[in-house]
Amino acid sequence: MTVSTLTTPALRDPSVDHAIQSIVAGASTDATCSTDLAAGPWDFDTRPGYGPGSSMGDVIPTGAPRQGELPRAYREADEAQLHARIQAARATLGDRLVILGHFYQREEVVRHADYVGDSFQLATAAKEHPNAEAIVFCGVHFMAETADLLSQPEQAVILPNLAAGCSMADMADIDQVEECWEQLAEVLGPLDQVDADGLLPVIPVTYMNSSAAIKGFVGRNGGIVCTSSNAQTVLEWAFARGRRVLFFPDQHLGRNTAKAMGVPLEQMPMWNPRRPFGGNDAEALADSRVILWHGFCSVHRRFTVAQIDQARAEHPGVRVIVHPECPMEVVDAADEAGSTDYIRRAIDAATTPTTFAIGTEINLVRRLAAQYPQHEIFCLDPVVCPCSTMYRIHPGYLAWVLEELVAGRTPNRIQVSADVADPARVALERMLAAKPPVATQDAAPRA
Ligand code: SF4
Repeated sequence: MTVSTLTTPALRDPSVDHAIQSIVAGASTDATCSTDLAAGPWDFDTRPGYGPGSSMGDVIPTGAPRQGELPRAYREADEAQLHARIQAARATLGDRLVILGHFYQREEVVRHADYVGDSFQLATAAKEHPNAEAIVFCGVHFMAETADLLSQPEQAVILPNLAAGCSMADMADIDQVEECWEQLAEVLGPLDQVDADGLLPVIPVTYMNSSAAIKGFVGRNGGIVCTSSNAQTVLEWAFARGRRVLFFPDQHLGRNTAKAMGVPLEQMPMWNPRRPFGGNDAEALADSRVILWHGFCSVHRRFTVAQIDQARAEHPGVRVIVHPECPMEVVDAADEAGSTDYIRRAIDAATTPTTFAIGTEINLVRRLAAQYPQHEIFCLDPVVCPCSTMYRIHPGYLAWVLEELVAGRTPNRIQVSADVADPARVALERMLAAKPPVATQDAAPRA
């Protein structure tokens, strides 16, 4: 994957933040998942839970990082004041600073980013700036960890709000995964010994959306990382080395990818970490090809087949593209499924005005609609409900970390310890070395 696929944040568009503010003010009647989103995220940062947004119902792990109180000056500043403060701090820091903005980030933040992309593209972009002293990652915790893994040791990777985690990444914690590994060894025998065909019993594969601790586990145990763009290539790499795959944390990406490769659903048991042997019997595990961790993205889980049916009824000829983190039924009902970068490229490549119904995070869909006015582009889910944790990166936090840097302090640094970072890099390097058998297209249009 190359950084050239990144986009620059040139366009302003009506953001989710503005949409919610206008609903609260009575200027709009759009539905939202919670008008509490209009409050500053600092109102939620001291409480347990992910806060308003699509992950609101998910359970936040104890021990997840919390953010200390943001100084009053930033909480009370209006958007124009924060914008001016961010601009001034950026000008002072110059090339010492790189700001990265995830595709799903709110527009008020993305407008300040030097690069906009998915998590791996942004980590790669950070690598392209070895002389920048600070890399401010406007995304979520695991993304900042990945940037730290790929950047120089002396560079500081900063997450503006430490409460910006990822509910999906949090669904596979390292203790649960270690326990799963031990239980699999009880059923499958020693996991580090190859059989007569030279295959290991199981290869662990983790989605990029996982903690550095999980990536380190995978690296230590002969496994590999994947993205939503290269999941099939990575599974092919794993099947060349093992009888089966343990895939985490996202069950949907694992199931959708393996199903497209011809793995029967009966050979994809689910591993529920709260039950002995994941809730499976020994026979099901022995017969498995892909063991799916019981994790999901609360943003992409919101999409339904009924929404696709409605889009087709209301917009004859509509082209439906969904992210592979969506449930299998939704991917099956769509015209195409692919990563955020695939979605962006598919729209970019359309040469005639087209109606697109997109199944992914609302901020990205709104930005695409603004960037490609020749097409009609809308989100399959009519309810404005962004990723709760990504939404925690408010311009107030961005202004605060930049002004701290100007003052010579380094707030909210994300650092992965060497014992985790070394094997995690091994797992990432395996991913980079794994090559697809054909062209590097990340998802083929479904027939
Ligand atoms: S959109 Fe889903 S996977 Fe991405 S950061 Fe939010 S919760 Fe995590």
